[in-house]
Amino acid sequence: MDPELGAQREAFKAQNKSCFILGASGETGRVLLHEIVKSGLFSKVTTIGRRELPFEEPLYKDVVQKIVDFEKLPNYADDFKGHDVGFCCLGTTKAKAGADGFVRVDHDYVLQAAELAKAGGCTHFNLQSSKGANKKSPFLYTQVKGQIEEDVELLGFPRCSIFRPAILICNRQESRMFEWLTLKALTPVSALVPTFITIPVATVARGFLNNAIRPAKQPVEVLENADIFEVAGKPRTSPN
Ligand code: NDP
Repeated sequence: MDPELGAQREAFKAQNKSCFILGASGETGRVLLHEIVKSGLFSKVTTIGRRELPFEEPLYKDVVQKIVDFEKLPNYADDFKGHDVGFCCLGTTKAKAGADGFVRVDHDYVLQAAELAKAGGCTHFNLQSSKGANKKSPFLYTQVKGQIEEDVELLGFPRCSIFRPAILICNRQESRMFEWLTLKALTPVSALVPTFITIPVATVARGFLNNAIRPAKQPVEVLENADIFEVAGKPRTSPN
C-alpha cells in the first residue's frame, strides 16, 4: 500500500468515526459496506434501509441495521443521529419505479435523508450521483442527478463529496437487460480506455473510502469517473 495512504488510514482510524450507509443492499452499497467492515476504518457502522439484510459472515457482526419507511423518513430522525460520515448509494430506475417513483427515490428520499443526517451531526456526506449529472439536462435521469447534487450541496455539510461514476461494472443480482447489453457492447472500450465510460463497483467503493480518509481540499468536491479511478488507486477492468 502507498505509505501516504497507509498513514492516512491509521490517522483516520484513530479518530474513531462512525458512519452510515444508505443503499447497502445495492450493487455499490454492498461492496462499499464490505470494504468498510473489512478495513476497520470506522468504530461504528450503521446501515439504513427498508429491509433487514441477512449478514451471515462474522465480519458483519457489529453492523447496526436500522430499518426505516422512506415514505415517513422524518419519523426516523433518531436513526440519523450521531454519524460522522454518510454514504448514499440509494437509487432506482425509471423502468422499475416509473418516472415519479424514480424522482421520489433518487431525489426526494436522498434529500430527506441528507437533511436528517445534517441535523443529526453528519460532517461528511458522500453522494453517489452519475456521470453526466446536470439539472438542465433534457434527460430525466441526468436531470434528477444534477438537481439532487445541487440540493444536497446547498444543505451546507462541512464536507460534501459527489461521485459521478459512469456505467457500473458489476455482477448485478437483479436482471437489467438494457444495462447488461450496454456493458457487453462496451467491453472493448473499457478494455482500451478503462476510465472512459464504465467503472467497476469495487473501484467506486474504494474511491469513496480513500477519499473519505484524506483531508478535504474544499467543502464540496465533485469526482468525475476518471477522478474516482485515480483516488481508488489505479485503473482496473475486472468486475471485482
Ligand atoms: P442498486 O440499484 O443496486 O441499489 C439501490 C439501492 O437503493 C438498494 O439498496 C435499494 O434497496 C435501494 N432502493 C431502491 N429503491 C428503493 C425504495 N423505493 N425505497 C428504499 N430503498 C430503495 O444501486 P447501484 O449500486 O446500481 O447504483 C447506486 C447509485 O449509483 C444509484 O443512485 C444509481 O442511479 C447510480 N448510478 C448507477 C449507474 C449504473 O450503471 N447502474 C451508473 C452511475 C450511477 P433494496 O435492495 O431494498 O431494493
